[in-house]
Amino acid sequence: MSLDGSYDAGNIFAKILRGEMPAVKVYEDEHVLAFMDVFPQAKGHTLVIPKQSSARNFLEEAPDVIGPLMLGVQRVARAVRAALNPDGLVITQFNGAPAGQTVFHLHFHIIPRWEGVPLGRHAQGMADMDELKVLAAEISAKVG
Ligand code: 5GP
Repeated sequence: MSLDGSYDAGNIFAKILRGEMPAVKVYEDEHVLAFMDVFPQAKGHTLVIPKQSSARNFLEEAPDVIGPLMLGVQRVARAVRAALNPDGLVITQFNGAPAGQTVFHLHFHIIPRWEGVPLGRHAQGMADMDELKVLAAEISAKVG
């Protein structure tokens, strides 16, 4: 899906928001939901999505959603750092399939990085659910 098109309410993140699909949740408030990526590119790979949104990407998002969303991204990123002590942290977001986007509900990736540990491949290799739950609990405990 390119930058042109319309929001599909059947996308996987919309289903997670409606409770129709499970997710290993890390943090939630009235504006954002954070949960573990099931195909993590690194240990602790977390996604943050806006709750009140029908934006496929950053360009489409309503301006009043952006502020609370970015505060949520920062809050969760700080918790990831506090829980996992990475050497670095990638915060990224893709717009359109040619840019690497595979799920078309706006989302931010928080990906911890450690010296000498290569980044895993994007959206491949399913995580162990029990391990994700442990990581989610560790991160959740550090949300300020
Ligand atoms: P994108 O490629 O659109 O930037 O990112 C989508 C992300 O969602 C990928 O990193 C992929 O691993 C993740 N993902 C895809 N399907 C699911 C799912 O059902 N549950 C969760 N938690 N993550 C998913």
